[in-house]
Amino acid sequence: MAQEVYLMRVTRLKNVRIVDGIHASSKPTDLYLVGPSLARQLPPETRIDATYDLEDHIAMAGGIDIHTHIGGGKVNLARLMWPERSTKEANEKPWLGPLSAPVPGTWETGQRYLQMGYTTCFEPAMLPANARQSHMEMRDTPWLDTGGYVVLGNDRMLLNMIALGAGQEAINDYVAWMVASSAAMAIKVVNAGGIDAFKFNQRQLNVDEVHPALPVRPRDILWSLSTAAEELGLAHPLHVHCSNLGTPGNIASTLATLDAVEGRRIHLTHAQYHCYGSDGPHGFSSEASKLADRVNRTNHISIDVGQILFGQTITLSADTMHQFANRKFASPRKVIFQDLECQAGCGLLPFRYKESQFVHGLQWSIGLELFLRIQDPTRVFLTTDHPNGGPFTGYPHLIRLLMDYDFRMSIFDRLHPDVRSVSTLPSLKREYRLDEIASITRLGPARALGLQNRGNLNPGSISDVAIYRNDDNPETMFSSPTMVFRCGELVLRDGLILGDCQKTVLISDFQTRQDALRWGARPEHSARWQKLYGYSPWLTALRTDEFAEEGLRVEHAHWHR
Ligand SMILES: [Zn+2]
Repeated sequence: MAQEVYLMRVTRLKNVRIVDGIHASSKPTDLYLVGPSLARQLPPETRIDATYDLEDHIAMAGGIDIHTHIGGGKVNLARLMWPERSTKEANEKPWLGPLSAPVPGTWETGQRYLQMGYTTCFEPAMLPANARQSHMEMRDTPWLDTGGYVVLGNDRMLLNMIALGAGQEAINDYVAWMVASSAAMAIKVVNAGGIDAFKFNQRQLNVDEVHPALPVRPRDILWSLSTAAEELGLAHPLHVHCSNLGTPGNIASTLATLDAVEGRRIHLTHAQYHCYGSDGPHGFSSEASKLADRVNRTNHISIDVGQILFGQTITLSADTMHQFANRKFASPRKVIFQDLECQAGCGLLPFRYKESQFVHGLQWSIGLELFLRIQDPTRVFLTTDHPNGGPFTGYPHLIRLLMDYDFRMSIFDRLHPDVRSVSTLPSLKREYRLDEIASITRLGPARALGLQNRGNLNPGSISDVAIYRNDDNPETMFSSPTMVFRCGELVLRDGLILGDCQKTVLISDFQTRQDALRWGARPEHSARWQKLYGYSPWLTALRTDEFAEEGLRVEHAHWHR
């Protein structure tokens, strides 16, 4: 160790308060960045290259976004639909202004995440056929380490296997191939079976409803995929976008989805859109307490919220079925729909969330209810499902909503009067503490993704560190870290970017990774794929050494049982 320390840059962060959701002490201490790792103590003779006295500052690990759309086909369609405006010239501090477009280009995405202290982001909807393109865009997004979840559950290969009773072992082999050949961190399922059912003109598919052309129910798909994730030992559990997105009364199918995995690990994404009732004057009500109760009573469920924030955005989803249902709400009025490679679909429409609108106001309060009702901050994660609920640049504002009851109520008081009469939000007086903010933005996502060396400031963890100056206004504090370090290098100071950094792609390891790529080499599999999709499975398969050839580091994440 001592030998290595001499070769690496050593930075001392002096008198800083560590806030990572693990270390409880509020006393200032010293933290060392030794090349790519953190240390709490060093031998006395160690050469220190730089010291920063950080009295009145806190240190957090680099932020982790577990679900943000930053690479792939839909993201590019959104850029085409709403090209960038030029707003920067007029703005003295461009990192505090609005994004140049609801879905900005790669450079702006990386820059704006870094300027909030975020260093790791995951694209949650990578189609197998588009995996190479998604990874290329993420590689082109500077300052962020990235990974992607491969979308399964509407792919004809899997649906046919379940319909024909191929058995779990064969499904595991197929899923292993899909994860390995897409260089994925996890499996994502979007409206299990529903996207494919939409291609048969169906407008809804409940968890126990049979697909119109195949003897398969969403429940069977959820069971098979969650079992595959568990038996293969993937780092992250099945990442689920439930059936009936945005539909009044969908709490029933959300709870049925949780039942379908029979106690296996599961992550529900943008859960805000999936806990609605159908009561009240508008036939739309909050059932956030039912989902929060389920999370609180069990320990195998995590969620990210998908909070909505008022303003203009674009919604984009592989869930063609429900995007089609929302087409009449497009604002401005334009839409794009696609069916993709017999593997999924996609729909995009611009959307404006308004304080004066009953449904939008209630959605806003439902998201906050989830944050405030779920007790364990390492199992509820801060997301807006960027760009669907609003841009990721709204995170500091969202943090203030969670930490400041009076601020929350000052916005609540401006909502539609019927929201104010039905919502229970005013009774939830909880205010998040800083260590809980660290948990929902760092520690929790890292644990859910099997990344033990990220999301915390333990000795040996990666030296991605964000320094924030204490401020009574958390929005000011979290929108302008005074320093951000990536792998031990100071890359941002007072909003200004100082340099580039090495990037890492994160991929799930699993027990049969060595054998996974053999699946596509078997003639019977290759022939079936060719017949269904019209091309060889090897046409789109990625090799992990391709990343190294492009200068990326590859890190494998593990499930810590
Ligand atoms: Zn999403």
